[in-house]
Amino acid sequence: MEVLYNSCRGGLKTITLDAVCKKIIDNDNEIADEDITVLYQIFDQTLFKALDLIDKECIELLTIANTDRTYFSVQGSNGFYTIYPHINFCECPVFKANVKKNQVGVICKHVLACHLAFVLKKYKTRTTSELVYTQS
Ligand SMILES: [Zn+2]
Repeated sequence: MEVLYNSCRGGLKTITLDAVCKKIIDNDNEIADEDITVLYQIFDQTLFKALDLIDKECIELLTIANTDRTYFSVQGSNGFYTIYPHINFCECPVFKANVKKNQVGVICKHVLACHLAFVLKKYKTRTTSELVYTQS
């Protein structure tokens, strides 16, 4: 499986995560045991760290006032991380270290947690006036 992961940057992980996320939506926003099995095979311990963040209600979806722009704020152990929808990027040390190492299939628990929290509808919401996300 590792060979497949190397075929393109983040490729298969992203595709599989998308597929599982769609399945969760179709399953009335519930995660099935088989989904957990599939995700664990790909993400290993990162999956459980991500689920732990969701359980601890660390995920917040912020909407910028008077816009339809949104982003996630994740409470990590060393502060808050901003995760933008559709962009696989995080400022945490794990993400940075992996990017420096090999750039293959990079994902951290914060990005994974946002994907899963969104489809499981397990996140807090808040409106903010901060214009952090300016890309249209
Ligand atoms: Zn991260």
